Amino acid sequence: MAYLTLRGINKIYPNGYHAVHDFNLEIEKGEFIVFVGSSGCGKSTTLRMIAGLENISKGEFYIDGERANEKGPRERGVAMVFQSYALYPHMTVYDNLAFGLELQGVDDDVIEQRVKSTAAILGLTDYLERLPRELSGGQRQRVAVGRAIIRKVDIFLMDEPLSNLDAKQRVTMRSEITQIHRETGATTIYVTHDQTEAMTMADRIVVMKDGYVQQVGTPYDLYFEPTNMFVAGFIGEPPMNFIESRLENGKLDINSNIVDLSFAADREVLEKYEGKDIVFGFRPEAVKVVKDEPVENAYNFSCVVELVELLGDNTNVYVDIYGTSSILKVDPHESPAINTGFEFAVPYGSVYLFDKETEKRIKLRK
Ligand code: ADP
Repeated sequence: MAYLTLRGINKIYPNGYHAVHDFNLEIEKGEFIVFVGSSGCGKSTTLRMIAGLENISKGEFYIDGERANEKGPRERGVAMVFQSYALYPHMTVYDNLAFGLELQGVDDDVIEQRVKSTAAILGLTDYLERLPRELSGGQRQRVAVGRAIIRKVDIFLMDEPLSNLDAKQRVTMRSEITQIHRETGATTIYVTHDQTEAMTMADRIVVMKDGYVQQVGTPYDLYFEPTNMFVAGFIGEPPMNFIESRLENGKLDINSNIVDLSFAADREVLEKYEGKDIVFGFRPEAVKVVKDEPVENAYNFSCVVELVELLGDNTNVYVDIYGTSSILKVDPHESPAINTGFEFAVPYGSVYLFDKETEKRIKLRK
């Protein structure tokens, strides 16, 4: 196991493109870190700098406290799993697994023992004599993971390893990778654009956008305490709803519908943002359906139902709230009909406010 330090890491590609800006992170021994963000935000570039496959333009990188900027990939003690599997097509599963160890000059009987134990962990024992083309996508990805774990390195790097698998295989492999991490204890960095993978697998998540780190935190922190609108909208499915408004006299004016914020926020906070454009945020799953009486300790809203999607355990209700589209997660038995009026409530404790100009979250309580 190793601990890693990234200090002020930048990547400027030879064509001048500045792909990663001032990336700072301390990764503890044995941690499972996930880099998440939309395509092109700099996740792979950062991972490749850690792997030694891209040079670091500016900043310092340490493994176990020792500067590693100048170290080659082999010297860093890392194993990487790619999206494309990168298996040798003409070699059997056995040889694909054994290859890295053979290069290191490991004894044949040790290799055989490690191939067998790795295959057993990954459920590949019956496939050792097959070629990659004779395997399913999920099995190929297992071989790719096997090639990484067989080397018993301290650091695993995984770049979108599940993106070629179908939805069901992804869920299975997700828990297998988590299990393997628990067994090996290797420090792991995992890149994905999928927030569900990030939330389910990570000890801590690094959310990136346009080459900048937006927030680093546990899945719990990112979901409940997002630092800005990007993180609030990226983490959670369906995403958080945002309604634009203006704060006047401590009250939000949402298209002439008034929300008295004094129940959700401290007076000092309201005074600071008086007269500003404010974004009112709430998660689809935070809402309660209003039946006969208004819901207490909550903001009650009226809306018009535009679309209803039954998912089984819940329905996604697409609504128009005073001119803004939003999604509400509702119990299927309470689900409304399309084109009808509908009332729902957002509990005071589930309200998120953002400064529209900076997109930063406004802490409601001191
Ligand atoms: P992600 O992994 O988050 O999808 P990448 O790290 O692959 O993003 O890419 C970040 C940005 O850097 C993208 O805009 C991409 O086009 C750019 N980029 C990647 N590789 C190169 C390269 N070799 N030269 C110039 N720009 C690159």
